Amino acid sequence: MSTELLLVGGERVPAAEERTFSVIEPGNGSPMADVAEAGPEDARRAVDVAVEAFDEGSWPRTSATERGRVLLRASVLVRERLEELAQLEARNVGKPISDARDEIGIVADTLEYWGGAANKIFGETVPVQDPGLDVTLREPVGVCALITPWNFPLVIATWKLSPALACGNTIVVKPASLTPLSLLRLADILAEAGLPAGTLSVLPGPGSSVGNALVTDPRVAKVGFTGSTEIGSAIMALAARNITRISLELGGKSANVVFADADMDTCVERSMWAVFANTGQDCCARSRILVERPAYDGFVQALAERTDGLRVGQPLSEETDLGPLISSGQRQTAVDYLEIGQKEGARLVTGGDVPEVPDGANGFYLRPAILADVDNAWRVAQEEIFGPVACVIPFDTEEEAIRLANETEYGLSGSIWTRDLGRAIRVAKGIRTGVLSVNSSHSVHTEAPFGGYKRSGIGREMGMHAVNLYTEVKNIYFSEA
Ligand code: NAD
Ligand code: MN
Repeated sequence: MSTELLLVGGERVPAAEERTFSVIEPGNGSPMADVAEAGPEDARRAVDVAVEAFDEGSWPRTSATERGRVLLRASVLVRERLEELAQLEARNVGKPISDARDEIGIVADTLEYWGGAANKIFGETVPVQDPGLDVTLREPVGVCALITPWNFPLVIATWKLSPALACGNTIVVKPASLTPLSLLRLADILAEAGLPAGTLSVLPGPGSSVGNALVTDPRVAKVGFTGSTEIGSAIMALAARNITRISLELGGKSANVVFADADMDTCVERSMWAVFANTGQDCCARSRILVERPAYDGFVQALAERTDGLRVGQPLSEETDLGPLISSGQRQTAVDYLEIGQKEGARLVTGGDVPEVPDGANGFYLRPAILADVDNAWRVAQEEIFGPVACVIPFDTEEEAIRLANETEYGLSGSIWTRDLGRAIRVAKGIRTGVLSVNSSHSVHTEAPFGGYKRSGIGREMGMHAVNLYTEVKNIYFSEA
């Protein structure tokens, strides 16, 4: 197996300490690549390069239009290589190939969006009282350290690096060590599209060493982080030392609120995908399903029947609905929560066993599970499981539904199912969460803002809101006297 090297200063280089690590394929538990393991010394080198590229390099000085063209070319190349990238992502994360294809499509969309947006980012003229002209400039922040998780590796990295590049920053990305492969391919594509060497470095390696070194480097101007609330909180404290700008996309325990008047067939189908897609490893998973009492028994039964029909299998099989979890540890967490939930008093309706998957005996498979009659105060309803576990909770009134939806430390996503427009508006206004969909399980749109309330994060990525994360505002007053 050849070794995937780090990308620093436009070159593939071994790690300073010459360490490597294996990347495992969750579908069969076998190594699929060796990767150079970056450490603190590599972080310092990559930041050296990014500082030089910011202070003296061409990227921040290139016209916004030309920066946009580079991103547009990269978007075209990603679409041309969609199948190859999708297969790599499917194998490395364990997600179904059909989902991986959709995700690489989103990567291309995101590059295209920011390619078009680059020359539409501009400041204002401000009517100050003093004689003259007051203007604002939107300037790049500087060196950005972007730290990303393993569940949607390339999509989440692209959501950060595309606006950061469009705004003229230079970047070091640290992907999750479980899933570094697709980002290294994308970095090659960006170079081919004309991104100057040194503008983007990629450092696979452990968060505790290389990630930590990036966050605490005083030359890093901005940290963009997606991951768990626990690590996000630790990173925020580290960033405080140097007043480093920070945006956080963290965990969730989102509510899917089902009223009895909803179109039940669609609602059951979409509610199922909203919690089990990506084998439940989704920050936006609607893992608390609140159902109005008159519809409750029918909903639970229909959800169980439909869930039993999901095909758990190898990521590259076109027949697969759900792949394995990312690791045996992640699977064990889900199994542990099923036990905790049952001890708390929940009823296991279906799932939670390990299925037989051809050639998958050493993979991390688990059948999707439904816990019914859950109390919203229980641990299974309060803690992010990040696996294929749905909790179904009954409610009686609209007010109770809003209260239960809000009784969580998180506030990332959510869905509301009803045909009553007035109720949809009242409930949507009542739920404290960053993203909601009505009669849909959609969470994220390339063009619309995305981010969390409460402990689900700080800041909004996606759409033009992301410009706020990757620019500073400079105010200049020109006296006419
Ligand atoms: P994680 O918090 O364990 O790791 C995220 C990243 O941080 C990884 O690259 C990791 O190596 C790095 N890291 C860890 N310790 C660090 C440190 N001390 N300094 C710097 N970097 C460090 O998260 P994960 O297990 O990769 O992903 C799952 C979590 O991510 C879930 O909680 C999920 O909800 C969250 N998530 C949130 C969103 C969102 O947009 N809100 C999207 C996807 C995942
Ligand atoms: Mn983790």
